Amino acid sequence: MPVPYLGNPVRCEAVLRSFDFSFRKRFGQNFLIDEDVLEGIVEASGVTGDDVVLEIGPGIGSLTQYLASTARKVVAVEIDKSLMPILEHTLDGWDNVRVLNQDILKTDIAAIAEEENGGKPLKVIANLPYYITTPIIMKLFESGCPIDSVTVMVQKEVADRIKSEPGSKEYGAISLAVQYYAKASAAIEVGPESFVPPPKVSSTVLHLERYPETRVKVDDEEQMFKIIRGVFNQRRKTLVNAVANFEGLAFSKDDIRRALSEMGLPETARGETFSLEQFAELSNRLK
Ligand code: SAM
Repeated sequence: MPVPYLGNPVRCEAVLRSFDFSFRKRFGQNFLIDEDVLEGIVEASGVTGDDVVLEIGPGIGSLTQYLASTARKVVAVEIDKSLMPILEHTLDGWDNVRVLNQDILKTDIAAIAEEENGGKPLKVIANLPYYITTPIIMKLFESGCPIDSVTVMVQKEVADRIKSEPGSKEYGAISLAVQYYAKASAAIEVGPESFVPPPKVSSTVLHLERYPETRVKVDDEEQMFKIIRGVFNQRRKTLVNAVANFEGLAFSKDDIRRALSEMGLPETARGETFSLEQFAELSNRLK
């Protein structure tokens, strides 16, 4: 098995130059050039020699080399056709890597798990353009494809929101949406100098460990998330005022007051301090 060699600026730039590569802004191309970060991502992901990894957005293959040295198999999905000859070169010798030139949003992940891992869950590792990262995280969990963790580089502020707890100013609908499916923890802080070209923002590697079931049991998932949206769309209002007649919900103020009182909570309660368990209980009582 070859040794990973791309995680440093000199080698990365030599590869880019020899293929006359031009960065494409619309694909959010910032490539990692920091060995410590690359090793840290593999460690945070918990990948072992038993795992099949789905890597989203391999770029020139720097992280792919590290993953291939650790995992049983890596399937790397890259949208940019011009990176294909580079990946063929940088991944030469790693015989446990399969590169697919596809958009991850159009990729059949369940089929990859079936073909490569007998239908058993994959570990997902992604370093993507930041504007599509949150929709992709949600798609991965909501679609129910076999995945047991997602280790993803996100903008620091997004990581703070996703892992935040009730009552903090970052806490919101996205924290609850992700924490419904997975336990979120921040693994590494990454500065702009670890990439070429350097992005304008700081980043965090977030590890999302999927729960075997969702974190809470709720009778009507859609209704609970509508309640959550109502609360965080109008954070300053009491929960009763924010949720009554919120779009798509038909609860009166009295219905909500009654449910809160059954939960031992005052009618002045504010939803921004509610845990996921409390939102699930409220939704079940309102049903
Ligand atoms: N993982 C590499 C690294 O860390 O050096 C590259 C990271 S770069 C931030 C993001 C990569 O995702 C780029 O190679 C880009 O072309 C690719 N990408 C962007 N959108 C994608 C999509 N929808 N599906 C698959 N790959 C995508």
